[in-house]
Amino acid sequence: MARRLVVIGNGMAGARTVEEILERGGGDLFDITMFGAEPYGNYNRILLSTVLSGAEDESGIFLNDVDWYAANRIDLHPGVRVTRIDRFARTVTDELGGTTPYDKLILATGSDAFVPPIAGLHRPGRGYHQGVFTFRTLDDTRGMIRYAREHQRAVVIGGGLLGLEAARGLQSHLPHVTLVHSAGHLMNAQLDSQAGAILRRSVEALGIEVVIGARTTEILGKEAVTGVRLADGRTIRCDIVVVAAGIRPNTALAERSGLDVERGIVVDDQMRCLDEPDIYAVGECVQHRGETYGLVAPLWEQARVLADHLTGADPDAAYHGSRTATKLKVAGVDVATMGLKEPDRDDDETVVFAERRRGVYQSVVIRDGRLAGATLLGDVSKAAFLIQAFDRGSPLPEERIRLLFDLGGPSAETSAAELADEAQVCNCNGVTKAAIVGAVQSGTRTVGGVADATRAGKGCGSCKTLVGQIVEWAAGGEVEEDESASWYVPGIPLAKPELMTTIRNMELKSVSAVFAALAPGGAEDARSKMGLASLLRMMWAGEYVDERDARFINDRVHANIQRDGTFSVVPQMKGGVTTPHQLRRIADVAERYRVPMVKLTGGQRIDLLGVRKEDLPAVWADLDMPSGYAYGKSFRTVKTCVGLEFCRFGLGDSTTLGIAIESRFQGLESPAKLKLAVTGCPRNCAEAYVKDLGVVAVEGGRWEIYVGGAAGAHIRKGDLLTTVDTADEVIRLTGRFLQFYREHANWLERTYAFVPRYGVDRLRALIVDDVDGLGAGLDERMDASIAAYRDPWKEGAALATPGQFRTSLPLIALPRRVP
Ligand SMILES: Cc1cc2nc3c(=O)[nH]c(=O)nc-3n(C[C@H](O)[C@H](O)[C@H](O)COP(=O)(O)OP(=O)(O)OC[C@H]3O[C@@H](n4cnc5c(N)ncnc54)[C@H](O)[C@@H]3O)c2cc1C
Ligand code: SF4
Repeated sequence: MARRLVVIGNGMAGARTVEEILERGGGDLFDITMFGAEPYGNYNRILLSTVLSGAEDESGIFLNDVDWYAANRIDLHPGVRVTRIDRFARTVTDELGGTTPYDKLILATGSDAFVPPIAGLHRPGRGYHQGVFTFRTLDDTRGMIRYAREHQRAVVIGGGLLGLEAARGLQSHLPHVTLVHSAGHLMNAQLDSQAGAILRRSVEALGIEVVIGARTTEILGKEAVTGVRLADGRTIRCDIVVVAAGIRPNTALAERSGLDVERGIVVDDQMRCLDEPDIYAVGECVQHRGETYGLVAPLWEQARVLADHLTGADPDAAYHGSRTATKLKVAGVDVATMGLKEPDRDDDETVVFAERRRGVYQSVVIRDGRLAGATLLGDVSKAAFLIQAFDRGSPLPEERIRLLFDLGGPSAETSAAELADEAQVCNCNGVTKAAIVGAVQSGTRTVGGVADATRAGKGCGSCKTLVGQIVEWAAGGEVEEDESASWYVPGIPLAKPELMTTIRNMELKSVSAVFAALAPGGAEDARSKMGLASLLRMMWAGEYVDERDARFINDRVHANIQRDGTFSVVPQMKGGVTTPHQLRRIADVAERYRVPMVKLTGGQRIDLLGVRKEDLPAVWADLDMPSGYAYGKSFRTVKTCVGLEFCRFGLGDSTTLGIAIESRFQGLESPAKLKLAVTGCPRNCAEAYVKDLGVVAVEGGRWEIYVGGAAGAHIRKGDLLTTVDTADEVIRLTGRFLQFYREHANWLERTYAFVPRYGVDRLRALIVDDVDGLGAGLDERMDASIAAYRDPWKEGAALATPGQFRTSLPLIALPRRVP
C-alpha cells in the first residue's frame, strides 16, 4: 500500500521537492497531501518583483497551477494553514480542524518578512497601520499595487535585495520613492562599501532617492501613514511604507510541535529533523550545519537530496551545504556575488576594477591561490567563469587581471564550454548546464524551446545570455531562430492569418482535424486546444464540430472553477437588469442547494458561489435562466447605468442599449474575455471608459464608442473609436469591432493590448471608414456567429460526455463568511 506523505508549505522548496519525488516514481510510492497557507498553486516568488513593476502578469509566475496537483493525484489544500503536528499520533491538524495522518512528513514553511520594532507600525488589534506593507507573497504584492496606485510617495525600509526590488517596482505606480537603509551602504550583506556606493549611484540614476545610515524609528499618521521619522529626528513624508528589512525562517509550527529549532529547523544531511526518523524539512525554514539560506539555489539541491532519499533512488544521497554563488538582476542592475566580499586576512590578494560612470564594479579575493570570493556589479560577463572557479577551487591564471578581463583568457563562449555539467546556470529555476545540453541533444534547437523544456531563463532573466551561449555551444552553431514566437498556438507552426486561410481552404472544422492536418506528425498538443477551439468556433459558427476534450474545465461544465474545487454559477442578467421573479428563483436555488455564498459581481450580476460540480445540471435546470458566461474566453457582460429613464443627468437610454448589445452578442467566442458597458452621460457611472468596448451618451442624442479600455490587473482608458448618431449605429460598429478583434487578435490578447498594437487610427479607418472594404464581410461573419448561438443550458439535459459532471477535484472546505 502506498505510504502517506504530507508536505506542509507549498512554496518553491515544498513544490520542487514534490516534483523531484514524482520524477523518481514517487507518485506510486506515496499518497501525497500538500498544505499551503497561500490560496494558490505554486508560484515563482522571485518574479513578484516583476509583478510589482508590472513587467509580468500574475498569470506568468505560476509554476504549477491547481490542475497540476489534480493531474498528479496530489491532494492539495490551498489556503489552509497547518497549526499542529502530533508526532506521537503521527498526524497534522489544520486551521479548519481537519486531521491528516502521515507516514512521512516534510516541512517547507519558508520564511516570513522580518519586521523590526518601529513605533506605530501596527494598529492595536488590526494588523499593520493603513499603508504599511511587507514584501513576501502575491497577496502582499497585490495589496501594494492597489494602494500605491492611489498615492504619491513611498518609503521603502531596507536597502538589501528585497528593498531595492520593492523600490524599483513601486516606481511604476507612484512618482516618489525613497529608500531608507540603516547600514552605511546598499546591499551590505553582499557588497563591500565601494561596490555599495556604485550601486547607490546606479539606483539614484533610476530616480530613487536613497538615504543611508538612517534607522527608522516611527511611522507617522493617525488614520493612514503620512510619513516616517528617523533616529536623528528627520522625517520623510510618504503615504505608503514597505518594510523590506530581511527575512526570518518560519519555524513557529516546528517549535510548537517540539522539533529542534535554533535559527531554523535543525536538519541532518538527509534533511531529517533531529531525532525524528520520519519528519524532514527543506527550504528557507531549515538550518543545516549551522547555515540558513535565503536564495533558491540551495533549496534545489536540498530538494534533490530529499527526493533521492525518500524514494530510495539514491540511498547514499546527502546534502553537504551550498556555496552561495549568486547571479541576480536587482532593480535592473546585474549583480553576481560569491564567497568573501572583501579580504579579511593580511595575505589575501585582491583585484579591483571600478568604473563609476558606467556603474561597473568588479573585485576578486584570492586566498592560497584559489578564488575565495568575487563581486561583479553592472557587468557580469565573467560570472560563469568565476562561479566555476569558486565552486571547483580550480587553479587561477598567474596574471590575476585575466580573471576579470579577456586578455587572451577564457571568453564567455569558452566558459560556456568549460562550465561543469552540474553547474547551475539558472538559479531561479534550478537548471544545470547538463539539463540545457540534454534538451539540445534531444533535438530542441531553439533558445525558446530549450527554455520551455527546462525553464532555464524563465526566472529573473539574468542567465538568459549564458543559456543562449550554452545552447549555441551544445548545438554546434546550429541554433535555429525561434519561429514559434509568431505562432497562434504553440502546437501548430502557423501565424494566425496563415492558420485561418489554411483552415478555411482545407475545411478543417474540429480541433482534432486541425492537429491531424497541420501539427508536426499530427501530434495533439494540450496547450493549443483551447485557442484552436475558440478560433474554429469563431470561423465556422454553426458548422464547428465540438469536441469536449478541447475545452477547459469551465467550458466543459459552463461554470467557473474556484480554488476549493467547487464552481460558481452566474445566470445572465442583461444590462444588469433583473425581475422579482428571477430574484425569487435565484434565492430558491441558493437555498435548495445550500449555496454557501451569494454575491453581486462587479459586472452587475448575481454569483452563486460554492456549487458542487455534480449539482451543476440541476442548479441550471432549476434556475431556468441562460448562462451569464462568467467563465469563458467570450463576450461576458454589458454593464449599464440607469441612464435617461431614471437619472437626472441622463442623455441617452443606456439601459435599453446595453440590453440590446448583450442580447445580440451573448456568449460569443473571442480570443479573451470581453467586458462592455454603456453609460448614460460622461459622468460614467457604468465605467464605460475602461471597458473592452464602452459606449457613452453625449449631448445631442449622440453616442461615443471607446475601445481597448481595461480596469483589472491592467488599467487603461479606452481610445475613442468614433461618435455616432444612433443606437443602431452603435450596435453595428460594435459588431464590426468585435469581429475584427476576433479575427486578428492573438490568443488571449485582451483589447487593451490589441488596440494599441493596431493603433486606433488604423482601426477607425478599417472599421468605421471602411477604407479597405472589409465592413460587409465582417458584418456577415458576425451575423453567422450570432445565428449559431445556443445557450448551453438549453441544449437538453443529456450529458455531453459520461464524466461531464463527475467530481474531479478533492473538495476542500474553505473558511466562509455567510452573513
Ligand atoms: C520579492 C522576492 C524576490 C526574490 N528574489 C530572489 C532572487 O532573485 N533569487 C533568489 O535566489 N531568491 C530570491 N528570493 C528568495 C526566494 O523566493 C526564496 O528563497 C524561496 O521562495 C524560498 O522557498 P521556500 O519554499 O523555502 O519558502 P516559500 O517560497 O516562502 O514557501 C513557503 C510556503 O509555506 C507556506 N506555509 C508556511 N507555514 C505554513 C503552515 N503552517 N501551513 C501551510 N503552509 C505554510 C507559506 O504560506 C509559503 O507559501 C526572492 C524572494 C522574494 C520575496
Ligand atoms: S452616467 Fe450619467 S446618466 Fe448614467 S447614472 Fe451616471 S449620471 Fe446618470
